Amino acid sequence: MKGKFPIDKFQEIDTPFYYYDTQLLRQTLNAIKAEVSKHEGFVVHYAIKANANPKVLNIIAQSGLGADCVSGGEIKASLSAGFPADKIVYAGVGKADWEINLGLDKNIFCFNVESIAELEVIEELASIRNKKARVALRINPDVGAHTHSNITTGLAENKFGIAMRDMENVIDVMSTMPHVEFIGLHFHIGSQILDMGDFVSLCNRINDLQKQLIRKRIVVPNINVGGGLGIDYTHPNRVAIPDFKSYFDTYARHLNLSHGQTLHFELGRAVVAQCGSLITRTLYVKQGTAKQFAIVDAGMTDLIRPALYQAYHKIENITSDGPIATYDVVGPICESSDVFGKSVDLNETRRGDLIALRSSGAYGEIMASQYNCRKLPVGYITEDL
Ligand SMILES: *Cc1c(COP(=O)(O)O)cnc(C)c1O
Repeated sequence: MKGKFPIDKFQEIDTPFYYYDTQLLRQTLNAIKAEVSKHEGFVVHYAIKANANPKVLNIIAQSGLGADCVSGGEIKASLSAGFPADKIVYAGVGKADWEINLGLDKNIFCFNVESIAELEVIEELASIRNKKARVALRINPDVGAHTHSNITTGLAENKFGIAMRDMENVIDVMSTMPHVEFIGLHFHIGSQILDMGDFVSLCNRINDLQKQLIRKRIVVPNINVGGGLGIDYTHPNRVAIPDFKSYFDTYARHLNLSHGQTLHFELGRAVVAQCGSLITRTLYVKQGTAKQFAIVDAGMTDLIRPALYQAYHKIENITSDGPIATYDVVGPICESSDVFGKSVDLNETRRGDLIALRSSGAYGEIMASQYNCRKLPVGYITEDL
């Protein structure tokens, strides 16, 4: 089954471009809200880095989600899209002074802090401003996720977070800092996680850490478990909305929250991946010695995931009903890794046909580059066409 697209309208637009199906985006946001409302104290932030297209951000902000930022630029983007500052959390191993100052000046909800060195800078910058920075410690839980090794973040070998054994020491240091308020613990174990067991492992780790803190009579008001819920890249139509029920139920069942604790989530991919497609036009069909190539006008500069992580995207010829044939679908960039898919079954493809790369709403447009002096792809939402 192919996706349904407004093809007549597509014919009037220069390719390549991103198309966001806002009906599906709204359905996804409603599904999140419906599941979250079943659990007291659950709060969801959208991870801006997955897709910061202003029109997409605006719809997500209107739905009431908070924002999870990893840079000052993302804080600015989320504020202009209408996310309230008191729903913004800010993580990142390398926060520059201007970024910390921006967060302080805008009174964001929380800095997710990843080292003592960073804590010291926040204390200093907050004291200059005579402010108190709300801080959660990002703990590296040393939990592996069953996902691509480039997108695990919660292993001891990763650069992220504070090691569990250092946690108590960091808390002691923090208690001497008058301009820092310790309000929570933060975790994020990786991305494109489909095995709920990985999240159960994280819950068990957090339960242990909380017990350790309770022995020191410390109860923080906020626990933030990050994001990482994966999507079904193989079946973008059949599983258009991720299984949010299992995801939130897993945390409800396995994480022991203390009375009054708020549980924060930071979902990126699961919110936006399925509503987006990269639409590209076939330039040439080239017969190789052993293969035939469909050469399209989008490349790894528009969607880098296949080249970067060998990621799979379902590829469809959305303007042909011809008999199925097999193609390597490749872009025009001067890199051998500029391949969207090898041995892809497509309806018979000719010059001019439109090709959709499905499930590209997350880590697609936002990762585009101008390598080869190319134009950045434009993103359109349903209402634009
Ligand atoms: C990337 C990131 C997320 C979102 O990850 P997804 O896999 O897109 O849900 C959440 N929190 C932090 C700290 C991140 O770096």
